[in-house]
Amino acid sequence: MDEEGPDCGKADFVLLDQVTMEDFMENLKLRFEKGRIYTYIGEVLVSVNPYQELPLYGHEAITKYQGRELYERPPHLYAVANAAYRAMKRRSRDTCIVISGESGAGKTEASKHIMQYIAAVTNPSQRAEVERVKDVLLKSTCVLEAFGNARTNRNNNSSRFGKYMDINFDFKGDPVGGHIHSYLLEKSRVLKQHVGERNFHAFYQVLRGCEDSQLEDLHLQRNPALYSFTRQGAGLNPLDSDERSHYQAVMEAMRVIGFSSEEVDSVRRILAAILHLAVYQRLFEWVVNRINCVMEPRDRDPRRDGKDTVIGVLDIYGFEVFPVNSFEQFCINYCNEKLQQLFIQLILKQEQEEYEREGIAWQTVDYFNNATIVDLVERPHRGVLAVLDEACSAAGTITDRIFLQSLDTHHRHHPHYTSRQLCPTDKTMEFGRDFRIKHYAGDVTYSVEGFIDKNRDHLFQDFKRLLYNSSDPTLRAMWPDGQQDITEVTKRPLTAGTLFKNSMVALVENLASKEPFYVRCIKPNEDKVAGRLDEGHCRHQVAYLGLLENVRVRRAGFASRQPYPRFLLRYKMTCEYTWPNHLLGSDRAATSALLEQHGLQGDVAFGHTKLFIRSPQTLVTLEQSRARLI
Ligand code: ADP
Ligand code: MG
Repeated sequence: MDEEGPDCGKADFVLLDQVTMEDFMENLKLRFEKGRIYTYIGEVLVSVNPYQELPLYGHEAITKYQGRELYERPPHLYAVANAAYRAMKRRSRDTCIVISGESGAGKTEASKHIMQYIAAVTNPSQRAEVERVKDVLLKSTCVLEAFGNARTNRNNNSSRFGKYMDINFDFKGDPVGGHIHSYLLEKSRVLKQHVGERNFHAFYQVLRGCEDSQLEDLHLQRNPALYSFTRQGAGLNPLDSDERSHYQAVMEAMRVIGFSSEEVDSVRRILAAILHLAVYQRLFEWVVNRINCVMEPRDRDPRRDGKDTVIGVLDIYGFEVFPVNSFEQFCINYCNEKLQQLFIQLILKQEQEEYEREGIAWQTVDYFNNATIVDLVERPHRGVLAVLDEACSAAGTITDRIFLQSLDTHHRHHPHYTSRQLCPTDKTMEFGRDFRIKHYAGDVTYSVEGFIDKNRDHLFQDFKRLLYNSSDPTLRAMWPDGQQDITEVTKRPLTAGTLFKNSMVALVENLASKEPFYVRCIKPNEDKVAGRLDEGHCRHQVAYLGLLENVRVRRAGFASRQPYPRFLLRYKMTCEYTWPNHLLGSDRAATSALLEQHGLQGDVAFGHTKLFIRSPQTLVTLEQSRARLI
């Protein structure tokens, strides 16, 4: 952190004089203006999207962070990637990096920088199989973005699915495989795009990128404006000419990953068929599965019972509030409640574990526990999802309105639930249509219109069978359930809400079993412009990401902790017993002597390997006496 200079604000929010929103924002803004887009809260990285290329990445920067401790260099994604990698390698711990923030905050870019870092520091011996896996890992992003990303009003390259990617490492710490889970693809986009937005990139890439003869085979014309699915939003990019080079990049990436030319032909045909017809999610899932097959680790490490260590990277949609919020926002916000709950629990747990490791007494910390909101959504038999499933399974014509009445009955006394019926004076909700949940991140009003249909997610069995019986093997592979016999088919399939809930429960269990690292992304303004940080907009995100709470939890115990040798290296010149070298037997004894001379020994605790400093003021005092000497 030394290299940052004194006028760049605090590199760790924990060092703020006071933890108020004003102080937090002032520091965030000051750093942003100086091009310091990264700041820590302890080991959590806060990142602000700069919306411009900054000279922060690439080979030289990677070398700077490689093998260092988190605090040795200015805050950076590379430092977090390095910390996760080292924890995985040194302690054989599975780790995960959870990246969150709203659309356009920089999550996907962050995940790419993390992957690039990992690719750059691994496989020094250039093993061919490892190189192959790394290639697939890096190229998979490009393919998934073609099929799963679209231009929206908030982000020109917005991921319309949640992504969790495991990278498997062998005992040498080299990547030997991986696995991608995708969550809740926004498939409604295939049929309908809002004004100014586009369909998934892949459609435009095929139209713009294919050879004339291929287009002719597919009975397609080159101009996207000719097709209802690609013209509605009128968000056609002025840079559509780029589409051709993107198309070529995706084709190349698919080839490297190992898609056969027959498979690529099928994909093109299906994209064309969709432009003529409705089945995109299956195509997307098939692409993900195909990549997963190629990344399945081949040679399991016998020394760990065939188990590799894993780093998971989660890039998932943040909390969403629109003028009208529907089933999709409900699922996304539920996902964020789950992740927030995990965040608070794990941050506390991590602190507690470190104190135990270092032999220091732990004091409990109060925090807002959002378990009651999670419960409102997912509780068996009466949670919102269960009530919705009940409405969906009822015979006859249960309407969205009846579903709402049922919710009102079940939750009329719940402190986080209300509706117009329960609160007749609140004119911001519409009677018979809206309910509101008080989320940890703020109030969101949901319109129940379409909840039942979206939850049922019907796709006719005849249609599935038709596609399963296709002569195209790729198409058949996408519809394995088309072969089920009638009796299996008549069993009620799981609803979209229940499937989503199950996948969230599994995801949270998975993350909880790993050592977590967090990247919290902030979007500086709504206009995608460089260098402008809108305070109101950011305050809101800081609030709902729970960043102030995070700082408080971190400070409640000890604001700072440092291994003794590092502490001495920095402050030894401030004490006659330690400068230039100490003769006190141990670094711990030397540290103690130094603190005593400054009269600061009352504000610290001595761990087995680290010094724990309670108040930021102590660090400030030490920094000041150091500054007087240099
Ligand atoms: P999210 O995944 O959170 O929706 P993205 O990662 O796609 O957001 O970022 C949106 C856009 O912001 C990117 O396409 C890029 O133009 C810009 N951006 C994000 N992070 C950075 C960064 N670190 N440096 C420069 N530009 C960035
Ligand atoms: Mg994204």
